[in-house]
Amino acid sequence: MSANQEYIVISGARENNLKNVSLSIPKRKISIFTGVSGSGKSSIVFDTIAAESTRLLNENFTMFVRTFLPKYPQPDTDAIENLSMAVIVDQKRLGGGSHSTMGTITDIAPIVRLIFSRVGHPYVGPAHIFSFNDPQGMCPECNGIGRRLGVDMSKAVDMTRSLNEGALMLPDYSIGSFEWNMLMEAGSYDLDMKLSDYPTDLLEQLLYGKARKVEVLFGGKTMNITVEGVIEKFTNKYIKRDVKTMSERTQKSVTPYITEGPCASCHGARLSQAALNCRINGYNIAQLSAMEVGQLIRVVHEIDDPIAAPIVKALTERLQHLVDIGLEYLTLDRETDTLSGGESQRVKMVKHLSGSLVDVTYIFDEPSVGLHPRDVHRLNELLLKLRDKGNTVIVVEHDPDVIKTADHIVDVGPHAGSRGGTIVYEGSYEGLLTSGTLTGNFMKRPLQLKQDCRQPSGKLSVHNASLHNLQNVSVDIPTGVLTIVTGVAGSGKSTLINDIFLNQHTDAIVIDQSAVGVSTRSNPATYTGIMDDVRKAFASTNKVNQGLFSFNSKGACENCQGLGVVYTDIAFLDSVKLPCEVCGGKRFKEEVLEYKLNGKSIADVLEMTVEQALSFFELKEVVKKLQAMSDVGLNYITLGQPLSTLSGGECQRIKLASELHKKGSIYVMDEPTTGLHMSDIGQLLGIMNRLVDAGNTVIVIEHNLDVISQADWIIDMGPDGGSKGGQVVFEGTPTQIDHAEQSITGKYLK
Ligand code: ADP
Ligand code: ADP
Ligand code: ZN
Ligand code: ZN
Repeated sequence: MSANQEYIVISGARENNLKNVSLSIPKRKISIFTGVSGSGKSSIVFDTIAAESTRLLNENFTMFVRTFLPKYPQPDTDAIENLSMAVIVDQKRLGGGSHSTMGTITDIAPIVRLIFSRVGHPYVGPAHIFSFNDPQGMCPECNGIGRRLGVDMSKAVDMTRSLNEGALMLPDYSIGSFEWNMLMEAGSYDLDMKLSDYPTDLLEQLLYGKARKVEVLFGGKTMNITVEGVIEKFTNKYIKRDVKTMSERTQKSVTPYITEGPCASCHGARLSQAALNCRINGYNIAQLSAMEVGQLIRVVHEIDDPIAAPIVKALTERLQHLVDIGLEYLTLDRETDTLSGGESQRVKMVKHLSGSLVDVTYIFDEPSVGLHPRDVHRLNELLLKLRDKGNTVIVVEHDPDVIKTADHIVDVGPHAGSRGGTIVYEGSYEGLLTSGTLTGNFMKRPLQLKQDCRQPSGKLSVHNASLHNLQNVSVDIPTGVLTIVTGVAGSGKSTLINDIFLNQHTDAIVIDQSAVGVSTRSNPATYTGIMDDVRKAFASTNKVNQGLFSFNSKGACENCQGLGVVYTDIAFLDSVKLPCEVCGGKRFKEEVLEYKLNGKSIADVLEMTVEQALSFFELKEVVKKLQAMSDVGLNYITLGQPLSTLSGGECQRIKLASELHKKGSIYVMDEPTTGLHMSDIGQLLGIMNRLVDAGNTVIVIEHNLDVISQADWIIDMGPDGGSKGGQVVFEGTPTQIDHAEQSITGKYLK
């Protein structure tokens, strides 16, 4: 192997803001890409390296097959050499519905089934009968879903009221409505007696009576009608049928009255009785699947049947990977669509660790997301393991402790957008510290604990919360200050804030990382409302209809319907996006592009970055909205960039930008530092402080020490994850936390 085969060599990369970048990435080593957000890290790693790998993969198809495939455009670069197959391990949530669980996605579930089929008592049959996805294994009552829908009785009837006082609260039964009248005509109900005073059989008939034909006098005529109990009818009409097939209006009105409860037959275990009767050391398969991985690994260790030994070994190895990456608080029966982005990424990572691929280029996007400083070393160990299996590991990351483990660091910058796009440092960690780059300087900066914390104006209390792992938690959240909720992954932060607190305070403004924008035509301009102002300006200047400048009007390019790109679906691949051949990505018809505003067409405006637009526009409304985007660190994005191309962190900041002007509100943010470089965090803190100074309450779930140290109030959850967590271990100011013995966060703030 010649020396230059030891490197992936990229020459003249020019995607997005890259300025003819050339670099060499050592193979079978860990390379970390860092730099301020918008500097061009993703443009190198995803839009150049990963894109070229996908294109090469396609070239492997025969010429015949390729004539049916779209042509993947070559990334804008002179050359990329020695690239191996790339696997991208990102933070996209693992979907998959209720049949996809931690056990199925990691391929651990089939091993557990195999063990039961070999050494379980009594012997029941082949491995597949332990699968809730198998017709023979699933509980016949709930089809392996484990839950059944039912009526939420607390919302459907009020037993303390009489019928005339509105005891029936289901949508169809308002007093005097058709259903109500029919029901009252058909039975001899006392309209003024509280339902709680009704004799049992009458109440039974009112609520659960089976359909029966009765003759009623209605409007002077005798009619034959069918009546059934209120709950019985609702169940037949809405629950036994798939609500999702009904009109949106119906869905909206009935779903509040429907709850999901465990299946009465399998109690949520999803499996047939035969499968559940089979046990190993006293446990059935459902009990093992509901056990936290940390405990499961000990139980599995105790299976000492020689027949099972090789399977036990394989199982232990995989479970150990989950423990190693800090997911020991999860259970195998956990549905994957309830995992957070960071958890999803770590689960995917485990799948690859157990795989046998070598000489793969693994690409990670900020794998430290959701990890407390205590657990970052576990991530580092896994990256090292992947490397030592002979793979090339490329990571986009800001966490100083991950950066430290790199064999090779690439610092992209110096700033964002057009002021970035170059490589400001390449080399070792020690070299980075003395390089004088933003990253190098920030790595050396000592942590400052906030001294003069604000006094709260009041408090919002949570009482005796016990959802998921919460252990009867009661906590006061101060108002009018910046509160940081922290703790190791799985300690219960999201459960406390997102599930309990937000349920009580539905008016809170939630700024999370979920995708923004409903349509493929959404972009920062449409999302923030800038597009409306811009259209008006174009219309009045050119004396034409403003509708012309809308993506879904007759002014839009007809070939791509204003998208600028054309999507092609191919049977077995993801849909592929190609630039529109008619408008060349400009989205509008030629004649619309003729209309100018201060010399720029509508397409030119959409291509401006926030920063450029700020110096172009003078309209007060537009400037205000642009300034808000600039304030949250989005100077570098273009007004027309599809929202679907924004990262989770950018989505979160764009939401923040459009909510900045509110006062007296509660703001809740979930890891807003995601995607932010150390030098961007000061700006984020500035925004949070401005919100608080304007009279708002700001509550932030965060692991970043720079942010935690600047809180007015810290709520630390723990002491550990899952069943070992779920308590508040510290409440107080940053300078008080180092006295809190149980607080792991305190140790890291010191
Ligand atoms: P980083 O990963 O360092 O945050 P990016 O590589 O995502 O930075 O972005 C670098 C520059 O390229 C930014 O100015 C960004 O707005 C721009 N950019 C990124 N993706 C696109 C895209 N799909 N279309 C247009 N501009 C883009
Ligand atoms: P954190 O936000 O601190 O990482 P979470 O609140 O997400 O912690 O999780 C706390 C505990 O609750 C963990 O044991 C986790 O597995 C469990 N948990 C969280 N969400 C769910 C869910 N939707 N279903 C079942 N268990 C959950
Ligand atoms: Zn069932
Ligand atoms: Zn077009």
